[in-house]
Amino acid sequence: MKAIAVFPGKADTVHLAEVAEPRVEDVADGRGVLVRVIRVGLDGTDKEIDAGEYGAAPPGEDILIVGHESFGVVEEVGPAVTELRTGDYVVARVRQAGSSIYDRIGMPDMTTDDTYHEHGISLVHGFMTERYVEQPDALIRIPPSLRDVAVLLEPTSIAEKGIAQAYEIQRRLKVWHPTRAAVLGAGTIGLLATMILRNRGLEVVTFGLDEPPYVNADLIQDLGASYVSTKQVSIPEAAERFGRFDLVFEATGFSPLVFEAMCILLAKNGVLVLSSVTGGSRTVQVPSDALNLDFVLGNKVMVGTVNANREHFEAGVLDLGLTEEFHPGWLSQLITHRVDGLEAFEEAYRALSDGAGTIKVVVEVGSDDRG
Ligand code: BGC
Ligand code: ZN
Repeated sequence: MKAIAVFPGKADTVHLAEVAEPRVEDVADGRGVLVRVIRVGLDGTDKEIDAGEYGAAPPGEDILIVGHESFGVVEEVGPAVTELRTGDYVVARVRQAGSSIYDRIGMPDMTTDDTYHEHGISLVHGFMTERYVEQPDALIRIPPSLRDVAVLLEPTSIAEKGIAQAYEIQRRLKVWHPTRAAVLGAGTIGLLATMILRNRGLEVVTFGLDEPPYVNADLIQDLGASYVSTKQVSIPEAAERFGRFDLVFEATGFSPLVFEAMCILLAKNGVLVLSSVTGGSRTVQVPSDALNLDFVLGNKVMVGTVNANREHFEAGVLDLGLTEEFHPGWLSQLITHRVDGLEAFEEAYRALSDGAGTIKVVVEVGSDDRG
């Protein structure tokens, strides 16, 4: 069968490959679930993997099948699978369990192992192929009403985890009723974080670089949030206009912003969530005494977040459903580029670099018929 793969560590090697068909028996004890892929989304991580900056092939292999944002349909289940049936729509989790205590309790997103195993990213093949086989725990069942937007579940799970971490940490306050949140970044993760926070009833201000007219700004306003272009309003000006925020979610990919967010945007007792994977080597000077003092006297928290576990995918299903109810059609507007078939992978990777105008690029791998 066909797959899209790279030679990890080398730049511009994305190509169409011929790979072996997976079988339901590939998973031990009759626990295999064979999934036919319907569509796969691409993001900045895929771009970095094709640039050779990131990614690793499975042991003993030289290619890595890419793709970690999946949506598919169960084609066959092993005799010991009770959780799923043929015809169920599913999205696969990205990270596999390693060996740390967190991995063993279903939280591989919190692994303390030195290496992690992530489909399409690190040491395990991804989903940009016709079929894959998994064990049921790695699959999230999707209601048919979300079939057109569930390819957004994996990035949604990333935002869900970051926000869940904030709420979990804030239990230290006994009563925490956040009313105002800032989201830094208006890309896919910023949009989805805005959506989740609006679903929880918070007032949200989302910051991006681009000046309106800008589709992402319209999408943010459609949710009842405010959009601020940092070309028009600086972060200190924004803090003056809107006040400080109980929760700040950073998803710009531009690390210097973290320090502005720490001292200018975050309210007393507030929590700052960092979610950008910044592979570069940028440095900045920071007012260290002032930052430290502000954090100490304000009882502030800053937390990093990566990946997501099963509960965050499940929370994502609920939020996608709520958004479809309250803002029908909003989620499908996030899918700005659809390319048809694995063979069109070059067009998909080109669209990833289109800049403004690109939110989510998806490859339509197979037909959405539940056979
Ligand atoms: C993926 C995450 C992953 C992270 C780091 C992101 O693009 O969505 O699942 O943990 O990259 O590899
Ligand atoms: Zn991703």
